[in-house]
Amino acid sequence: MRPETYDLVAALPDDDLPAYVYDLTGLREHVRGIRAALPDRVELLYAAKANSDPRILRTLAGHVHGFEVASGGELDHVRAVVPGAPVAFGGPGKTPQELSRALDAGAERLHIESEHELRLLIALLGDRTVDVLLRVNLPVDVGRVALAMGGGPFGMDPVQLDRCLRVTETVPGIRLRGLHFHLASGLQAMPHLLLVDKVLAWAGSWARDRGVDLREVNVGGGMGVDYTHPARRFDWPVLGAGLGRILARHPHLTLRIEPGRSVTAYCGWYVTQVLDVKFSRARAYAVLRGGTHHLRTPAAKQHDQPFEVIPDDSWHRPWDRPQARDEPVTLVGQLCTPKDVLADRIMIERLRVGDRVAFAMAGAYAWNISHHAFLMHPRPTFHHLDGDGEGGGDDGDGPPVAGDTYARLTS
Ligand SMILES: *Cc1c(COP(=O)(O)O)cnc(C)c1O
Repeated sequence: MRPETYDLVAALPDDDLPAYVYDLTGLREHVRGIRAALPDRVELLYAAKANSDPRILRTLAGHVHGFEVASGGELDHVRAVVPGAPVAFGGPGKTPQELSRALDAGAERLHIESEHELRLLIALLGDRTVDVLLRVNLPVDVGRVALAMGGGPFGMDPVQLDRCLRVTETVPGIRLRGLHFHLASGLQAMPHLLLVDKVLAWAGSWARDRGVDLREVNVGGGMGVDYTHPARRFDWPVLGAGLGRILARHPHLTLRIEPGRSVTAYCGWYVTQVLDVKFSRARAYAVLRGGTHHLRTPAAKQHDQPFEVIPDDSWHRPWDRPQARDEPVTLVGQLCTPKDVLADRIMIERLRVGDRVAFAMAGAYAWNISHHAFLMHPRPTFHHLDGDGEGGGDDGDGPPVAGDTYARLTS
């Protein structure tokens, strides 16, 4: 945690807890580093579904080429928050309304997932022109990764790709710029490069055999984030250097990447407080304000969320302060389910009722994937730490949820 973040976390009034704290200054440094590591012919898009907090999007806007959105809600939200930023619309199961909306909004790219979707788009196109990438479900071995995105309902098999190619060739308004792949999630830099190399070799020979002028390949996101080692971040310089070598073999190609998690995971903190410490059947539990209904990440990914303890020495009760010392402690939330575990049996020097706990790496797939309504506990408050102020003004205390904004914009 940067010292400025620590000061903010320690100074939050108890009534503000649980709180999400987004370190926009840290985020800006991080995305600058990513951009600097990438060769010129690599365009960086941010996958908005990782975290679509308005001030996060505005902070990123100056440092990325554009945003990848995966629904009509995200499309409208990104349009409203960062007007004018290029938007690529992907994701399975696009409705006719969403496709129309993308055409009306002038989406910079549409990532087409199937022949049916392509035909729907053409039916809605009229005399407009749209740039598309066809998403390919390439059968490649991605090794032992956290999540293989290929082989499922995403994109199309090479046979259907050829059918789509023939369809696009008959409709002048559909400009086929290239192919899209998002085949794996959780890869570190070297295996990621091997995958990109395979994908581009395949795409190149596919295009050559069919006389397609392949201008662009989007190789997706999925850059690895290691929750067991918060300090060991994805090696962007290694990826950038490797992409440079690969691109030298593809002189006319622009490469796109669209990471989400690896961009924003580190800027977010979920800050809460110990409500109770107890011992049951030889195990120590710290019950925290909030829980996985605010931070579902550890439950979704089945990991221990890393955290820091911020001691609070103000104890005014006339009885002994409950505490755990030099022992493994399980950190749970307020939900009435044994699954509400944020970190399981972690060795802790000292944890007392009233101490604060700041969960790290809560900036991606955290608040926005959580089941907020379960048990009707109050929502967390939101705070943005912003040295340079590119993130724009404060949006008040209301939780920035894409769905809420979408509802407001469309109601
Ligand atoms: C979710 C998603 C991403 C972002 O993945 P991360 O693991 O967050 O980097 C990029 N592209 C597509 C198509 C996705 O579905």
